[in-house]
Amino acid sequence: MTQLSIVIPVYNEEESLAELQAWISQVMEPSGLSYELVYVDDGSSDGSWSIIQDLSRKGICVKAVRFFRNYGKSAALDTGFARTSGEVVITMDADLQDSPEEIPELYRMIKEDGFDLVSGWKRKRYDPLSKTLPSRFFNRVTRLLSGIKLHDFNCGLKAYDQKVVKNIHIYGEMHRYIPLIAKWNGFSRIGEKEVAHRPRKYGSTKFGLERFVHGFLDLISVSFVNRYRKNPMHFFGLLGTLSFVSGLFITVWLIFEKIRGLRLGLHVREITSQPLFFLALVALIVGVQLFLTGFLAEMMTSSTAQKSDYNIEEEINAGS
Ligand code: UDP
Ligand code: MG
Repeated sequence: MTQLSIVIPVYNEEESLAELQAWISQVMEPSGLSYELVYVDDGSSDGSWSIIQDLSRKGICVKAVRFFRNYGKSAALDTGFARTSGEVVITMDADLQDSPEEIPELYRMIKEDGFDLVSGWKRKRYDPLSKTLPSRFFNRVTRLLSGIKLHDFNCGLKAYDQKVVKNIHIYGEMHRYIPLIAKWNGFSRIGEKEVAHRPRKYGSTKFGLERFVHGFLDLISVSFVNRYRKNPMHFFGLLGTLSFVSGLFITVWLIFEKIRGLRLGLHVREITSQPLFFLALVALIVGVQLFLTGFLAEMMTSSTAQKSDYNIEEEINAGS
């Protein structure tokens, strides 16, 4: 069995690829580990694919996938993961910012120290301040929300035990949250290794400032989906009930006040001319809608729920 699979997402990185592959070989040959390279060309419009084709003829085991169009780094990683056969899977960026020198030690940490996932930590970063500053903030929030003690969630250089990559599913732009997704899937032995980082040598970054907006929205949805995917009614039902009951309560109270006023001969405003009435109305309608949304979500989960939703660690079937 191959010991190592190295997954490399590629989006317009033609200048870097040959240099990267040479550097990887230079590190891997002396280590004696058997390895394969898994390139995923994420719809590059430059010459990346023809360079990958050339590299695949060099004798190193190369698997490569080419997308019709650009789907994003998460899609590239997910597709690459499905094609790996190594006991340990490494992901690294194609832009020469991550150093292959770290690979043997990452491999050792997974195999010997028993980590499910080891994330790189670019302690000294060679990126512009506009990227490093928000990134610190982002890492702090993610750390608080997830309880995972990592300094650098989004580092491209990571190592995984084979079973992790075969059991998690990354979509959208969730590559920033792989450690969270892994933890929620039961892979909680998460480690960290300081890694060397270098400035981008060729080309330019593929993520602009929108990365921060998307990053935070994704963090909200990833936490939400994790908590309520299996039982959305627990979320919508609770909110809907609260809203409906408070609307009902206000309505009953308004009617009660009106009747009491009439009995005592006091002057009471029309129910429909009181602001509270409208509040009650909105609360009632929103409550019903939330409830219905919960039902719809439940129906969707029950129709799409599959056995594969549960990650099975071991299984015994004695006596058959
Ligand atoms: N990448 C990709 N698809 C995309 C954007 C990026 O496969 O839509 C790859 C890119 O080729 C590189 C890695 O993801 O190998 C990280 O991208 P980049 O270096 O631009 O990110 P940064 O280092 O600026 O965070
Ligand atoms: Mg980069």
